[in-house]
Amino acid sequence: DLAYLNGDIMPIEKATVPIEDRGYQFGDGVYEYIASYAGRLFMLGAHLDRLERSMGGLDFPPIPRSRIKAAIVDLFERAGYDRAGIYIQITRGVAPRNHAFDPTLSPQVVMTIRQINALPENLHRDGITAITVRDIRWGRCDIKTIQLLANSLAKQKALSEGHSDAIFISDQNVVREGTSSNLFIVKGGQLITHPLTPNILPGITRMAIIDICRETDLKIDESFFTTDALYHADEVFLTGTVTEVMPVTQIDGRCIGDGNVGPLTRKLYDGLRQKALAGA
Ligand code: PLP
Repeated sequence: DLAYLNGDIMPIEKATVPIEDRGYQFGDGVYEYIASYAGRLFMLGAHLDRLERSMGGLDFPPIPRSRIKAAIVDLFERAGYDRAGIYIQITRGVAPRNHAFDPTLSPQVVMTIRQINALPENLHRDGITAITVRDIRWGRCDIKTIQLLANSLAKQKALSEGHSDAIFISDQNVVREGTSSNLFIVKGGQLITHPLTPNILPGITRMAIIDICRETDLKIDESFFTTDALYHADEVFLTGTVTEVMPVTQIDGRCIGDGNVGPLTRKLYDGLRQKALAGA
């Protein structure tokens, strides 16, 4: 497994960053996680677009997209994995600790690449169980920042209670997303997912699923819905680069639909796998 550190590639264990990196002290950084299928990076362009937007959202000086892309592709080719996960993190830079920052600081770019192990097959076949948690995150969840404490604590709470994941719910009971995934419900043959607002991450997998719905004439509605609609949905699934399409068959102890993985969830999982293997 390899790391990229500001232009150099080395074994992961050899890559270290200064303790005054603002990512380390302030969580002042953004990231992406990209997966490959059968030796091809899936939706690289969309990930680069989002990375650019995240950097812009935090007023980072721009880094040419072609440079980032070349670095990613170079690391991917050097590692030579068919099924790889690439983590890219860009922090504002290194400076003596101070809340204010020098706008001309040089961003620090680090990446890691690891082989991805397929998720246990029974998860996609049987679905997972989840809990809901209050969304205590900040107001710009559309920026993919490395500040993931609320996500991390929520995920750990779910695991400690014997579940696989947690779903963020707003103070007004609006269902937002998972700790590292977007969320869709199915009701009466129609899909609903939270619209793109500053309160959720614009997921690349979410976008791929919406594309598949349009290509296959499935009705998809991007609108707000509450926990009541979540509990009474026919099907619920999470989407993400790691998660792919993950059926959720029980939430807060209540069965979703008949408690089995539903037909549209299955169809969209197959559709996403097909898209990924075709190198879309
Ligand atoms: N929502 C959150 C909070 C996430 O952290 C992630 C992925 O890490 C997603 C959604 C899914 O995004 P993507 O499909 O681009 O992986």
